Amino acid sequence: MVSCDMASYDVVVCGLGVMGSAALYHLARRGRRVLGLDRFAAGHDRGSSHGETRIIRLAYFEHPSYVPLVRRAYQLWRELETEAARTLLHVTGIAEIGPPDGALVNGTLDAARLHEIPHDLIAAPELTRRYPGFQLPPHYVGVVQPDGGFLEAEASVQAHQALARKHGAEIRYGEPIRAIEPKNDNARVVTDHATIEAGSVIVAAGPWTSSLLPNARLPLRVTRQVLAWFAPEVPSDFSPERFPVFLIESAHGIHYGFPSFGTGFKVAKHHHADEAVDPETYERQVTSEDEAMIRAAIADHLPGANGPLIDARTCLYTVAPDGDFIVDRLPGAASIVVASPCSGHGFKFAPVIGEALADLADGLPSRHDISRFRIGRFA
Ligand SMILES: Cc1cc2nc3c(=O)[nH]c(=O)nc-3n(C[C@H](O)[C@H](O)[C@H](O)COP(=O)(O)OP(=O)(O)OC[C@H]3O[C@@H](n4cnc5c(N)ncnc54)[C@H](O)[C@@H]3O)c2cc1C
Repeated sequence: MVSCDMASYDVVVCGLGVMGSAALYHLARRGRRVLGLDRFAAGHDRGSSHGETRIIRLAYFEHPSYVPLVRRAYQLWRELETEAARTLLHVTGIAEIGPPDGALVNGTLDAARLHEIPHDLIAAPELTRRYPGFQLPPHYVGVVQPDGGFLEAEASVQAHQALARKHGAEIRYGEPIRAIEPKNDNARVVTDHATIEAGSVIVAAGPWTSSLLPNARLPLRVTRQVLAWFAPEVPSDFSPERFPVFLIESAHGIHYGFPSFGTGFKVAKHHHADEAVDPETYERQVTSEDEAMIRAAIADHLPGANGPLIDARTCLYTVAPDGDFIVDRLPGAASIVVASPCSGHGFKFAPVIGEALADLADGLPSRHDISRFRIGRFA
């Protein structure tokens, strides 16, 4: 039964994946009275932020305008680590490999050169000497960037939430939101348990963002992703001492992965089958076709890792048509802020997006240039 919750908040954050959790933390740190809501239990695996690791990289192949944001994100991850008294960001270096005229190598080089990011451009023979796990066509090159690495994903979500609570945020799990409505200059959130008034509302609902804001007609597609862990035939070639975090562009698409930390060698195909799904009903079972899509690149370019499959899991991307993010106030309803920073590459930005979302929810312009992420670009 829906009752009327007498409490009201400066800001209600709808969805507590990494983005909602980061926004909640930044708002609570500013002394705002904030409530975070999620429909599932803490640590669930139904959205986009679960799992052990996410890549962070500085020389951003998607577009150089992401570089100032990711630079600020590095700073904020370090500040978060200090406050949480634990490591979340591991700088290991990253190798981004492919044909010299491919989107990955070209885009990475463009960003590195424009923003004077330290990097080495290395030809395939030297790359395979340095990292014997790779088998590469002789014309391939790799951009090796020492600042790249990975984030501990679930620990990052937990750290944001724990510190948000420490700064006074309220968090409620298992509370599905049914509607978000503008009300005069404020907004109202209707859940299964309450109707809550707030000065502003941040919608960070990942794959459910469009369904929570049906009138906004956001052009977001939810796509099914698959991650796989293999037992390398030559384990030493894939240990963190001998193998980097990597992206490789090949005839099979863009694959990415991590060295083996004892739980197998984790590899995935970016965008996988790019198959649009319903987040309520999508196939969470991994099939032999899924495995084949990932193995194709391993067989050709990482043959020593082409051992037995140890584990495989699914996850969801929420993708905008141009591959960028959506971070903006809802047109016609300034008290509602939409955050869909995914398109398969958002995690690393969580703290800087959290900072920008806190500005927008406070009624201020964002301190960061997020003009690339406006909703109006789809008009
Ligand atoms: C397989 C995979 C690999 C990735 N790799 C990388 C990477 O290497 N580097 C990188 O930077 N990024 C990566 N990303 C992208 C990154 O993980 C996402 O951008 C990020 O996790 C998005 O977080 P979010 O908070 O927006 O969404 P989510 O994590 O999905 O959170 C949304 C939350 O909203 C809640 N919610 C939804 N509807 C309701 C409702 N009605 N009521 C209450 N709660 C609701 C959900 O339960 C969920 O907890 C990857 C993503 C995937 C899936």
